[in-house]
Amino acid sequence: MMTWYDDLTPCTYFDLDQPHGDKLLAVGWLERGHPYPKGSIASAVQTKLVSLCENPWEPLAFLGWHACDRCLPDGQPDALHADGMTVPMGSENLFVPGHGLLYVAPSLIVHFIAVHGYQPPPAFCAAVLACPPMGSEDYLQAISSNGPTTFAKWVRETPRKVQ
Ligand SMILES: [Zn+2]
Repeated sequence: MMTWYDDLTPCTYFDLDQPHGDKLLAVGWLERGHPYPKGSIASAVQTKLVSLCENPWEPLAFLGWHACDRCLPDGQPDALHADGMTVPMGSENLFVPGHGLLYVAPSLIVHFIAVHGYQPPPAFCAAVLACPPMGSEDYLQAISSNGPTTFAKWVRETPRKVQ
């Protein structure tokens, strides 16, 4: 089962020995029984979000599987296909740099938007549009400089591609 957080509240899922507090805010951690905002989002945001979720950077291999409990018991979405891209569902998380903080969304967020009409907060949508290309040095720098100190450490530990 997925962990539930209200949008824009501290996401403690990645707290190990050090709490991230309001430097790491949850977006799109939906769970049955908790109402969530519905509405349309700009197609540019949706397309960018899917591209970011294709192969998102993550600091560590966090165990645990996110399931969409709105699709139970009929089965789980295994992947979302959109705009020629494929987003695997379940285990991955997307970190998006904001102003002095990070947003974190499960990759299921693209499923919640496409299938369940979920509308993420405008601040998150703006951050998605402003986000550097996934995995780029600009992206890693933005994660490091806006995120909690543990994320700066995790970025330093990220293996860089040989140019
Ligand atoms: Zn679903």
